[in-house]
Amino acid sequence: MKTGHVLNDTNITELRRVPKSTILRKQLIREETRKSTPTVTIYGCQYLVDFDSGYDQRFHRVNKNKECDCGAAYCEAIEIVRQYLQAGGVRAPDPATAFACPICGSKIYRDPIWDSRTSKEPGWRCARGGLGHFLQARSDRIRKQFAEHPWLIPPAPGYPGVRRDEVLTSTECEAIQRKVYLESGYDPTA
Ligand SMILES: [Zn+2]
Ligand SMILES: [Zn+2]
Repeated sequence: MKTGHVLNDTNITELRRVPKSTILRKQLIREETRKSTPTVTIYGCQYLVDFDSGYDQRFHRVNKNKECDCGAAYCEAIEIVRQYLQAGGVRAPDPATAFACPICGSKIYRDPIWDSRTSKEPGWRCARGGLGHFLQARSDRIRKQFAEHPWLIPPAPGYPGVRRDEVLTSTECEAIQRKVYLESGYDPTA
């Protein structure tokens, strides 16, 4: 059998001196370092960038002003967050509204299941009102948008026009309700 790599006498002597498990571990670490790409998660109002354990400082926190807590002005983590957002990643909540429910003012908790794919706004649950307050806040916002821009096709002479809520009540509302049943067991109609 032909191998791409031939051991000479020096290599063999070195291999005998080093325990086999050490060699394997070193190879694994090298492979992981090469393969892993840094991950970005939302941490409060900031982004937590996780390089891997091979880095001196593994975790970097980048805030919304594009500053990294490691203090480096051109930290790589800032660029990674930029790419993450450009690729459609969910945005961290704004500090002013981060921990208060807009319905009752209680503390809220992140719930990634309810992240919005269209607006990129993060999902959450209220400590007092749970998922209900999140859905209420979202539908209040959708209603407000409808009130401000109600027409999908504006009326014209001889044509009544089509309002956004006429189209969306049947499709989006059903989809939202189905999602509630399936993913949370919460029944908004109960
Ligand atoms: Zn940094
Ligand atoms: Zn609430």
